[in-house]
Amino acid sequence: MIKEYLENINIKETNEQLVSLKSYALTNNVPIITDDGIAFIKQIINIKGVKKVLEIGTAIGYSSINMALYSDCTITTIERDNEMYDKAIENIKNGNLQDRITVLNQDALEVDESTLGKFDLIFIDAAKAQSIKFFNKYKTCLNNQGLIITDNLLFHDLVVTPIKDRNLKQLVRKIDTFNKFVVEQMDFDTYIYSIGDGMSLSIKKDVIK
Ligand code: SAH
Ligand code: MG
Repeated sequence: MIKEYLENINIKETNEQLVSLKSYALTNNVPIITDDGIAFIKQIINIKGVKKVLEIGTAIGYSSINMALYSDCTITTIERDNEMYDKAIENIKNGNLQDRITVLNQDALEVDESTLGKFDLIFIDAAKAQSIKFFNKYKTCLNNQGLIITDNLLFHDLVVTPIKDRNLKQLVRKIDTFNKFVVEQMDFDTYIYSIGDGMSLSIKKDVIK
């Protein structure tokens, strides 16, 4: 109810490409970010003056294109699935954003992160069971006071729902483990919000010299 109320009140997206990508995602079951989730990220990008974003999990490029359209940041985004990668490349070209968004067609666990440079914001939105690995691997690519945002931490509220299916149960347990892990990282100030499907915001603490 609250969700619908806010959905009606908040200004709706009018950019034609974003509207059409969203409906494509809906019909093709591509799990793109929610409206409030992307609004949260875009406002953080603009408040913080984020210039370089690393995204793990491109899918069709919806979140990348969205960030690029509403800020002046450049984005590196990683997608392992070939079909998704092709779609993302096509969409980024259509949006004329190929100068600002670079898509790597690789498994994010196999990328040599030391070659990527440094980022102000890392958005983790790939295989949900791997979030701890992504966090530990890619935190080395953060600038001081850089941010890590991780998506889908409530997993459609399944983190608080009894589950019978064994595989699903295992996946949800891993998400719960990530949530407990992420708030405990002493080199970050983290809070988990019930925005969208659940998102954590982790701010890297200043290195004391
Ligand atoms: N960020 C996108 C949605 C990403 S959906 C948006 O909001 O618009 C998650 C994507 O992560 C899927 O396309 C999946 O193929 C990709 N993915 C999952 N595990 C991955 C991995 N280890 N490396 C790279 N991509 C991965
Ligand atoms: Mg997501």
